[in-house]
Amino acid sequence: MSITPIYLKPIGIIHSCFKQKFGIPRQSRLAPAATAELVLLPPYNRAEAVKGLEQFSHIWISFIFHQIQGDDWLPTIRPPRLGGKQRLGVFATRSTHRPNPLGLSAVKLEEICFQGSEICLKLSGVDFLDKTPVVDIKPYLPYADIITDATYGYADQPFDDQSPHKLPILFTADVQQFCTNYQAQTGRALAQLIQQTLTQDPRPAYLRNKPVSKNEQPRYHGISLWDLNIRWYYSTAGIVVDDIQFINTNNV
Ligand code: SAM
Repeated sequence: MSITPIYLKPIGIIHSCFKQKFGIPRQSRLAPAATAELVLLPPYNRAEAVKGLEQFSHIWISFIFHQIQGDDWLPTIRPPRLGGKQRLGVFATRSTHRPNPLGLSAVKLEEICFQGSEICLKLSGVDFLDKTPVVDIKPYLPYADIITDATYGYADQPFDDQSPHKLPILFTADVQQFCTNYQAQTGRALAQLIQQTLTQDPRPAYLRNKPVSKNEQPRYHGISLWDLNIRWYYSTAGIVVDDIQFINTNNV
């Protein structure tokens, strides 16, 4: 039986705090300080289309994983939480590599803004990359969407192992000051977002299981959040965030 392909129309575009895939939480709501704006595209940018949505604290966003590499899908996936060693069926995972690259996230709806013809939904607790195309929005309905007796197999914790990542996250005095100033100027909870992102230990599994030794040269990692590049390294004392710079937009 041949099935006619179905074409989806993007109804909006995400402007996310996450400018690259590295470091994005694995699921929505793991980093409540992660914010995004969903700007509706014409002809869907009509006030009637969101009438009543403001009554809901949380919404479902269906979106396209537009930045996956390659079109191929495989019937099995190695979920990172299983250390990349075990394979599971693609439909038993929330992997981005699927026959149709569709994502689904429940996020907090902070506000709906209307500016001229622009309609923008302010969201938090997001797990989307910047410029993600959105194909649908639906209200989160606790009576239908909370399933108290659901079982969840291998995905019983938000983190890879049974205990969340335990290393303390340390900010240098300059970084701490930068975060305070940045939040005062922009309202963005930068220190919290860095904490919530690094708590999930975004390193590849093979580095995560390797303890840092005292005499080792620091191995630096970086992430872009909003208009900033943030750098950190792992030490025996914990994760040290030691540098924040504004992204040079001339080079973007
Ligand atoms: N909550 C969604 C779901 O369950 O369908 C997404 C889960 S998926 C495991 C989350 C990951 O998708 C993020 O950590 C990020 O690396 C990746 N991601 C987010 N937006 C993306 C995009 N537009 N294109 C490709 N990958 C994306």
